[in-house]
Amino acid sequence: MLDLPASRMTQLELARKGVVSPQVKWVAQGEGLEADFVLQGLLEGKIIALANAYHKNVVPCGIGKGLRTKINANIGTSSELFDVDTELRKLKVAINFGADTVMDLSTGGNIPAIRRAIINASPVPVGTVPIYQAAIQAIERHGSIVDMTVDELFDCIEEHARDGVDFMTVHCGVTQASIERLKRQGRVTDVVSRGGAFLIGWMLHNDKENPLYQYYERLLDLAREYDFALSLGDGLRPGCLADATDRAQIEELIMLGELVQRAREADVQAMVEGPGHMPLDQIATNVQLEKSLCRGAPFYVLGPLVTDIGAGYDHITGAIGGAIAAAAGADFLCYVTPTEHLSLPDVEDVKQGVIASRIAAHAGDIVKGIKGAKEWDEQMSRARKALDWETQSKLSLDPQLSRQVHNRIPCSGGTCSMCGKYCAMAIVEKYLTRGAVK
Ligand code: SF4
Repeated sequence: MLDLPASRMTQLELARKGVVSPQVKWVAQGEGLEADFVLQGLLEGKIIALANAYHKNVVPCGIGKGLRTKINANIGTSSELFDVDTELRKLKVAINFGADTVMDLSTGGNIPAIRRAIINASPVPVGTVPIYQAAIQAIERHGSIVDMTVDELFDCIEEHARDGVDFMTVHCGVTQASIERLKRQGRVTDVVSRGGAFLIGWMLHNDKENPLYQYYERLLDLAREYDFALSLGDGLRPGCLADATDRAQIEELIMLGELVQRAREADVQAMVEGPGHMPLDQIATNVQLEKSLCRGAPFYVLGPLVTDIGAGYDHITGAIGGAIAAAAGADFLCYVTPTEHLSLPDVEDVKQGVIASRIAAHAGDIVKGIKGAKEWDEQMSRARKALDWETQSKLSLDPQLSRQVHNRIPCSGGTCSMCGKYCAMAIVEKYLTRGAVK
C-alpha cells in the first residue's frame, strides 16, 4: 500500500514532465510491466491510475490498454436497508475474492459516514456517484431533487474528493439536446441510470442545461486539485436489449468523447462508462465505437447483460457480456450480482458477482494476451492432469469452495467422484505412460 504525498500536480502533469510517480511505479510492478509502458499509456490517456492522495494507504489501480482487465464491485446502502457493518462485510468479501475497486453507491442512512468508513477500510480504490448524495440532500433540505442548487452539487463532489474518493461517476454527457433525441427515439425503458434520471428530472423541471456539462471546467478544476479520475457516466445507457446502440446512446457517447479530450487537455484522467443491456452481437461494435470516438480512453462497461430475462442469475448474463466486451478491448468490468433488478445484494450476492466478473475478465485477458493469463490456465490444466487436488484448489478463484466440492463425495484412488474408478485422466495416464516406456 502507498501513503501518497498530497502532490500539487496530477499524475498526468507529472507524466508530462517525464516524472514516474509512485502510482505509475506501483501499477507497473503489479502488472509485471515496465514503468515506461504505463507512463506512455497515461500520457496518451489510454491508461489511468486510480489513487486519490487523500485516500490513505490506497493501492493504486491501473486501468487501460495492455493491462489486466479490472473488475469493480458496487456496494452501498439503499433507502430500505442501511447498515454500515453489512457494507463493510461486503467490502471485505469483494476484496477477498478479487475486486480491483469498489463503488459506494449508498443512498440510505448517513451517506457521508458510510462513505468514510468504506474508504478508511478499503485498500482498493473507491468510486462514488456524488449526484446521489446531492439529490438526496436536496430532498432533505428543499423537499425535492429539482431544487438542488448547482453549488450544492459541486460542494458534494468536493466533499467526496476530500474524503479520498479515487474515481467519480459524473453524467456530464446528458444534455438538453440528448434528451430531445431520447424523446424522438421512443425507447422501451427510457432511462435506467439513477444519476441520469436525477439530472434529467432537474434539467427538465428547471429548463436548464446539465450543470455537470455547463460547468465542466469547474469539475475539471476539482479533479485536478484532488487528482481523482472522472468516470464519464452513460446516463442514457440502454436498459434493455431493444434500446441498445440507439441514437440517444450514441449521441451521448460522441459527447463523452469530446469531454475526454477536454479532460486530457486539463491534465485530468478520464474513462468512459458503457452499456448496460445489449445483444451479444453488438458488444464488440460498441467497444470499437468507444475506442474510436473517445480516442482509446479506458472503457468501463456495466455488465453488459446479454439478455433481459436472467432475473436471479444476472451475474451470469453480465459475465457472458463482460467476457465478450473484455475480449473486444473493454478495460474495466462492473460486476452484476444475482439480485440485479430485484433487490439490494447481500454479502453472498457480492461474492457471486465478483467471482462471475473475474471469470469474465480473465477470459478476456486470455484473448488480449495479458501476461500470465494463459499461463494460469495451463498450470491448472497440468494440475488436473496430475490429479493434484490441492494445487487445483489453490489455482481456482474460490479455493475453499473447490476443496469443499471435491471432498463432498469421498473417492478412493486419487480421482474425483465424477467418474471414480473410470477416470479418463488416470486411465490415459497409465496406458500412455506405459506406451512411452515401451
Ligand atoms: S474422475 Fe473424471 S472428472 Fe474427475 S478428474 Fe478424473 S476424468 Fe476428471
